[in-house]
Amino acid sequence: MDKSDVAGDLADILITEEQIGTRLDEMAAQIDADYAGKDVLLVGVLKGAVMVMADLSRRLHHPLEMDWMAVSSYGSGTKSSGVVRILKDLDSDLTGRDVLIAEDIIDSGLTLSWLVQNLRSRGPASVEIATLLRKPDAAKVDVDVRYVGFDIPNEFVVGYGLDYAEKYRNLPFIGTLAPHVYS
Ligand code: 5GP
Repeated sequence: MDKSDVAGDLADILITEEQIGTRLDEMAAQIDADYAGKDVLLVGVLKGAVMVMADLSRRLHHPLEMDWMAVSSYGSGTKSSGVVRILKDLDSDLTGRDVLIAEDIIDSGLTLSWLVQNLRSRGPASVEIATLLRKPDAAKVDVDVRYVGFDIPNEFVVGYGLDYAEKYRNLPFIGTLAPHVYS
């Protein structure tokens, strides 16, 4: 799919498919080096992290397991509150495991902060975060994000797993939507 397929809905392409691929190569190389000799449990949070999980995991070269969680974050409007309910929990026992959460985007960081605390309470050896995108507000929350793909401005973005009303997740790039889409 290229821009023309949904051209009318898009305002701009912020990060191209090629830029995402290049950055994931770099992040995977760093993760491979940092986790040498360890079995990583890569944890994805549905649904947004699907693309990052698929493309990052394919670039990692050492033993790996993948697991999934689904959570719902209560909030007003588009902002999350940090109050989270688990819709689908992990299948894996985290005791002694090196857990790496693969995220699509960190905005307020509240959901992730809750998630990290929750997973740390299960006795893992380590819990780290790899996110493709990070917005400026994430700095306000005390979550240490070890791997960041791109720091982006405070704009609503879609594509590469990220939706607006469940659409646009399949776009291979990160883009912004034209104002008429929201009205
Ligand atoms: P927070 O970090 O504020 O707790 O929430 C992060 C979640 O909000 C992300 O996992 C994502 O689902 C959603 N989110 C935050 N910013 C954006 C954005 O720019 N676009 C889309 N599509 N979702 C976003």
